[in-house]
Amino acid sequence: MEVQATFQRRQTRQIHVGNVAVGGGSPITVQSMTTTRTADVEATLQQIYALAAAGADIVRCTCNELEAAEGLAQIVPRSPVPIVADIHHQYRMALAALDAGVHCLRLNPGNIRKPEHIQTVAQECKDRQVPIRIGVNGGSLHPDLYSKYGDKVTPEAMVESAQMELAYFADVDFADVKISVKASSVPLMIEAYRQLADVVDHPLHLGVTEAGPPPAGLIKSTVGIGTLLAEGIGDTIRYSLTADPVQEAKAGRQLLEAMGLRERKNVDLIACPSCGRAEIDVYEVAEQAMQAFGDKQIPLQVAVMGCVVNGPGEARDADIGIAAGNKRGHLFVKGRNVAVVAEQDMVSALVEWAELIHTEGVSAALARADTVAAEREAERDRNRLLAEQGNDANMAQQKIELIRNRG
Ligand code: SF4
Repeated sequence: MEVQATFQRRQTRQIHVGNVAVGGGSPITVQSMTTTRTADVEATLQQIYALAAAGADIVRCTCNELEAAEGLAQIVPRSPVPIVADIHHQYRMALAALDAGVHCLRLNPGNIRKPEHIQTVAQECKDRQVPIRIGVNGGSLHPDLYSKYGDKVTPEAMVESAQMELAYFADVDFADVKISVKASSVPLMIEAYRQLADVVDHPLHLGVTEAGPPPAGLIKSTVGIGTLLAEGIGDTIRYSLTADPVQEAKAGRQLLEAMGLRERKNVDLIACPSCGRAEIDVYEVAEQAMQAFGDKQIPLQVAVMGCVVNGPGEARDADIGIAAGNKRGHLFVKGRNVAVVAEQDMVSALVEWAELIHTEGVSAALARADTVAAEREAERDRNRLLAEQGNDANMAQQKIELIRNRG
């Protein structure tokens, strides 16, 4: 039985990045950032489309030069998702990005420091109804705050940086804001977001900055973002990986799906870890299945199991699965055997049946199958394997006896 997420989400005000709502109870969104030169319009748009297909709801592009702003003027109208302009040191780039029509700005308070510049940008955003993300970054904290907190980056310093920026915005009566307090240290960012969540009601953008290449980058981001989401904190997320940004978008999406915070969009592939009973190279077949499903948007749980002795039972909750046995593949739908295929056709049959279930539903797929014959064949192969391997293919009993004898 599927257990739905029960995380109580923190109440926040809602903002809109283009047509995407952030905060205020709206679905948690996934963000990523392009790595192309923004001035290269075609390359950037190609990447934006790839990110949107991978699950990104919002994409950020750097706006670090006038050519980038000019690129954004061409990109924004053709983008399938709202665009956020990343502003570094020059407030004039923020104004240029607004002229280009971007849906949101990201400002780093550590980089644009003159109050009059900050307020000019905020006033302009207010007039155009464009939100701003205050993007505090532990690595580029305002020097005054850095020294105030003992030449250290602390959660308190990061929260204060965000609050100072909010105060500048308040002077021009602008509050259409989401906030991030990212750090490359997971414990630091978790604590900074917790403290921030206690003192503001703005939506929060979560991330571990400079998390590095996978798998370490994925682990750090998942722990940092996942911990906060489980506490109800966070309205939009970004994985910052040293990798193709498509991986960032996929990871973000998968995390939300795994936590039951977004509806499943793609296959959830589960596979047994393989053991002494395995009839196939489970890693290899699972990898082939992953490749075969690719970007097909089939939101089902699919299982690849190493043996028909235990596979269909262990994965009985999967929508569709396949278990190897006696050089054949036994397909099962919700734990019921539906067909038998040759071992080399396991992956293609899995995809075919998943597509059938996706379009026609489980009942229709079961109605088409000769479940009695499929179960009989599975039973035959199961018995054959048991006869060949015995009841204890993993030699568990031998180990149990060893343990007992030591006692
Ligand atoms: S018993 Fe079969 S299904 Fe379970 S882990 Fe071993 S090979 Fe995989």
